[in-house]
Amino acid sequence: MKRAKSAKLFKEAAKYLVGGVNSPVRSFKGVDTGIIFAERARGPHLWDVDGNKYVDYIMSWGVHIFGHGYGPIVEAAVKSIKNGASFGLATKNEIELAKEIQHYYNTISKVRLVTSGTEACMTAVRLARAFTGRSKVIKFDGCYHGHFDGLLVKSGSGNLTFGIPSGKGITASYSRDTISVPFNDINIFSETVRRNRGDIACVIVEPVPCNTGVILPEEGFLRRLAAIAKRENIVLVFDEVITGFRLSSGGAQKLFGIKPDLTCLGKIIGGGFPVGAVGGRSDIMELLAPEGPVYQAGTLSGNPVSVAAGLAALRCLKEDKNLYAGLEKKTGELVAAMRKAAFAEGIPLTINTIGSVFSVFFTDKSVGSLADALGSDKEKYKKLFSGLCEEGVLFPPSAFEACFMSRAHDGAALERTIKGFRKALRKING
Ligand SMILES: *Cc1c(COP(=O)(O)O)cnc(C)c1O
Repeated sequence: MKRAKSAKLFKEAAKYLVGGVNSPVRSFKGVDTGIIFAERARGPHLWDVDGNKYVDYIMSWGVHIFGHGYGPIVEAAVKSIKNGASFGLATKNEIELAKEIQHYYNTISKVRLVTSGTEACMTAVRLARAFTGRSKVIKFDGCYHGHFDGLLVKSGSGNLTFGIPSGKGITASYSRDTISVPFNDINIFSETVRRNRGDIACVIVEPVPCNTGVILPEEGFLRRLAAIAKRENIVLVFDEVITGFRLSSGGAQKLFGIKPDLTCLGKIIGGGFPVGAVGGRSDIMELLAPEGPVYQAGTLSGNPVSVAAGLAALRCLKEDKNLYAGLEKKTGELVAAMRKAAFAEGIPLTINTIGSVFSVFFTDKSVGSLADALGSDKEKYKKLFSGLCEEGVLFPPSAFEACFMSRAHDGAALERTIKGFRKALRKING
């Protein structure tokens, strides 16, 4: 497979952009294929600048649940741009999007729309600190909540791929106020809360971590976490930037029956445009300016194009009663076929999956934490990634990111994936 144009563009990009990219994972440093420059995408497919066609499982990191370029979303965005890309004033659709979100999330009584998931999480933490008058935050190893200082301690996603889990440029005071503990270990969490009694403003968690690959919460973990938070008056923040509208229309909180105090959303609710949202209990949300003393603002917050696209996405979601069951079925079948292929090749493989997300770890152990994920064979993942690329299948260019299924992934795309997966595994065995 030729990637000469991508390689050439990368050389040129490196002269003008830091590392040649505007978000680290896009540099493909976690794999050996060299970078891929995207040109266009449609349905389940993505084409690179060299004309190669891939079945895409990145899907803009989970944004495109209906597939790339979905008609109603594109139309809504185009129509909105024609009416003016942004005004710096309130628009009616912002109410409509907030209503849609509230329709699905009964824990959200008020919403603030922002421009990224990072901002949503940042605002949630600020609100929790203002509400409780406390300063410390507990997070979980490998969970990613955006790139702001306070939460870049032992975080997942690109940080993990590049081996800089806590990053430089984060002052000691930030690190001191952020405590990161292992996911799925309720005893350590409970002990940490005990040792810091009265100092913890919030606990923020990806209810199903998807930035270390996919990690499933063990039975009862989230429920016990929520109970401890409630008992200690710690604000419980669910970062559902990926899981919201992905695992179910009501996110992970609906699936597991947990009621967080605050919820962060992003990705799907912008239909492919920059977006984020924080929402939750009105007594906390009302602390935000202009109602309260917690400042947060944004020139493009609630941007009309993002809001129109997101609104179209959520309305399409409402129309398809079979969406989540269909996604889960397809994903389950694909995962089963991949497990079978690995077994046939005698390659130890653990695939974590829930709903329409999955990730493959080259290990014979179960993967329930960051430490487990780090224990998997990264070299084998690199080989899998290269092999899949050759077969026209695009997995995330990192062993620590999730794969996303969309409604547009049809029988032919899935078949191509399975065939490609078998071939790639055979190459690993050499
Ligand atoms: C993507 C992501 C974010 C950050 O969102 P951006 O829009 O990239 O700032 C935060 N939390 C989770 C769980 C994410 O996956």
